[in-house]
Amino acid sequence: MIPCSHAIAAAIKEKISVESLVSEVYSLDRLTSAYRDAIFPICETGLDREHQDNGGLSGVEIFPPATRRPPGRPRKRRILSAGEIKMKNPRKRHVCSRCKTTGHNHATCKAAI
Ligand SMILES: [Zn+2]
Repeated sequence: MIPCSHAIAAAIKEKISVESLVSEVYSLDRLTSAYRDAIFPICETGLDREHQDNGGLSGVEIFPPATRRPPGRPRKRRILSAGEIKMKNPRKRHVCSRCKTTGHNHATCKAAI
């Protein structure tokens, strides 16, 4: 598992390495070993429909779920996961290209030439 933000905060306070709390399954060694062998794509035309494995439901034809697009404009912002907190991204400061100070831009610069 990966520790939550509270566990990370507690670990930092107690001077425990946060990396040591992350499960071994997330290690690079495990990831590379998972993809070590070749993975072959399933050929759609080569599939024998009669012998398809549909989870033990033989003879039952499975259709995709009946869905309709919800009304309204699709949201642009991602739905946060459980325990995830919205991080405020700091505003980029305007730096004037003419006098190199912040707070205004070249067009509104009042510095003497
Ligand atoms: Zn300026």
